[in-house]
Amino acid sequence: MAHEIKSIGVVGAGQMGSGIAHVAALHGVDVLLADLSEERLNAGLATIGNNLSRQVASGRITEAAKKEALGRIKPTTDYKAFGDSDLVIESATESEAVKRTIYGAVCPILKPEAMIATNTSSISITRLAAATDRPERFIGIHFMNPVPVMELVELIRGIATNDSTFESARAFVAKLGKTATVSEDFPAFIVNRILLPMINEAIYTLYEGVGSVDAIDTAMRLGANHPMGPLQLADFIGLDTCLSIMQVLHDGLADSKYRPCPLLVKYVEAGWLGRKAGRGFYDYRGEKPVPTR
Ligand code: NAD
Repeated sequence: MAHEIKSIGVVGAGQMGSGIAHVAALHGVDVLLADLSEERLNAGLATIGNNLSRQVASGRITEAAKKEALGRIKPTTDYKAFGDSDLVIESATESEAVKRTIYGAVCPILKPEAMIATNTSSISITRLAAATDRPERFIGIHFMNPVPVMELVELIRGIATNDSTFESARAFVAKLGKTATVSEDFPAFIVNRILLPMINEAIYTLYEGVGSVDAIDTAMRLGANHPMGPLQLADFIGLDTCLSIMQVLHDGLADSKYRPCPLLVKYVEAGWLGRKAGRGFYDYRGEKPVPTR
């Protein structure tokens, strides 16, 4: 039987956690947003405020809905506040050690029937579940970036996840106005398993001199009808994130077809990590992006 999720805790107020808090609050869910410091919480709340204002400006939500949503989000640096939460969504830094520490601290505070979800992009759901006191009420709820914009959420069961947890998570995703797809617990799930090898291949195409940055992105936009070229998309995701997902596929599936392109490794070593660093396959420091190759 599915349980209705009325209040959630979100651990991590970074780009994903703040997006999850935003969308949940907008759909009537009470949210406790936790991070390590007041400073990070304030940064997360500022992002949420700005993104809600953008939705008001474009007429997608009303000013009253924005105010109500902001009123439903309570920042905290103390997990004790999670005692009444129906579900805790962990969206902290992509590190197994960090996530394990969080579960250790959060589990003793939760009510027995509460569920835990992780937003991990790459770590095994079954292995993370085993680090909690409730693997049967643990599930992967994988949101896409940016959360307020992207329609898809991947649901991933661990080996022990029970039907009630799965159905509750599915109903929660529907309540947020998102569409769920179900993925088995294998490296990078579905979207990144398909998307990242395509991006890696685009980087090989550049590395081997088949085409320039502009030729590759134009080819895929106009020739395959992709809204964004693969190199532009790589810069948006972050080249460090792209490399780490390729490494997870390469290690987890032990197939040489997932070998990260040496040019991707070089860009990451240079600190040219894409938009967030001001430079990746494009240089963003001027008025408009200029290809770096
Ligand atoms: P981020 O770096 O923007 O945010 C992570 C936040 O977690 C930071 O604010 C950090 O202070 C906080 N944090 C770290 N340790 C903590 C702890 N012990 N307690 C509380 N908070 C802690 O990262 P992000 O991009 O928001 O990624 C978060 C998760 O979402 C990761 O698991 C990532 O794999 C996943 N994810 C990311 C994307 C993406 O495109 N960025 C997409 C889908 C899923």
